[in-house]
Amino acid sequence: MKALVYHGPGLLSWDDAPHPVLEADGDVIVKITSTTICGTDLHILKGDVPEVRPGTILGHEAVGTVVEKGSGVTTVDVGDRVLVSCISSCGRCRFCKEGRYGLCTGGGGWIFGHLIDGLQAEYARVPFADTSVYNVPEELSDEQVLFLADILPTAFEVGVLAGGVEPGDTVAIVGAGPIGLAAIMTAKLLTPGTIVAIDLAERRLERARAFGADVTINNGTQDAVEAVMALTDGLGADVAIEAVGVPETFELCTELIRPGGRIANVGVHGHPATLHLEKLWIRDVTITTGLVDTNTTARLMKLIAEGRLDPLAFATHRYPLASVLEAYDTFAAAAETDALKVVLEAEPIVGDRPKRELAGVAG
Ligand SMILES: [Zn+2]
Ligand SMILES: [Zn+2]
Repeated sequence: MKALVYHGPGLLSWDDAPHPVLEADGDVIVKITSTTICGTDLHILKGDVPEVRPGTILGHEAVGTVVEKGSGVTTVDVGDRVLVSCISSCGRCRFCKEGRYGLCTGGGGWIFGHLIDGLQAEYARVPFADTSVYNVPEELSDEQVLFLADILPTAFEVGVLAGGVEPGDTVAIVGAGPIGLAAIMTAKLLTPGTIVAIDLAERRLERARAFGADVTINNGTQDAVEAVMALTDGLGADVAIEAVGVPETFELCTELIRPGGRIANVGVHGHPATLHLEKLWIRDVTITTGLVDTNTTARLMKLIAEGRLDPLAFATHRYPLASVLEAYDTFAAAAETDALKVVLEAEPIVGDRPKRELAGVAG
């Protein structure tokens, strides 16, 4: 089969790779039909995630069809269309039992395209299938559910829910890239009073308004703290969601938050940020961090099926799976290409799996 293989910092290629095989009773093999690229993949490519060893197939977000299953798999069948999430759950460890799948100590957590081969490939081995994949309702397209693999639950859980957004709140979202926009979209589920989006790029702020931001602030030309204070009678935002991952944006959140407010950090940081405890301690500010658990994925899928959440606007570019390298270029140059999420599509299965591939597994 073909797969996108990481060969070390700056090096990616669309290679011939061994067809994945079942390694444990709980595994399934999935033929990928749709996959996408994440900002985290770009971090890996830069060498920021050294646990990813050269030779690893990248990707942790996909929809596909189960083509083989291990003897222990009971809730998923061959032929089922499934969402493969960025987080896997062993279902047995302490954290999985608490619904904290992101912290799984039993071999799950974020493993695809990180610790094991990922999903930007024609086929993938998916461990812990019973507790990790989601059956996709027939009426939903791949693209409607694809962003449930990462950005929607990440923004909702690590941003909106961790930030404790409540009806009427002023929610400041710093960064209007895919995660910031997903935070805007999912914050609306909790009817905040005002959603304020803050970014440096006018084009992204325009998009933030289209996604439902009530107020946008360009902090390249405006003082964001002053603008938020003006909106909140000088108090500050009830909730601030950090959706960039650089020290300046985190520190901005600590400046525009009201006393007793909540800062939810979603961005992936590569450098230390300064925590001004000398100013914050007396203001009763809560700061949360986290990796997504994906324990809201099924609920969000239901909202999509019921027409209450429409993530199709995230898909700005589409490529055939074999053009994944071109797709990476488009995604990496988002400032010029205006890309949010780049969807890679493979041909769906028609009829039975071709014999030559079965022969490949046996060989
Ligand atoms: Zn991702
Ligand atoms: Zn676990």
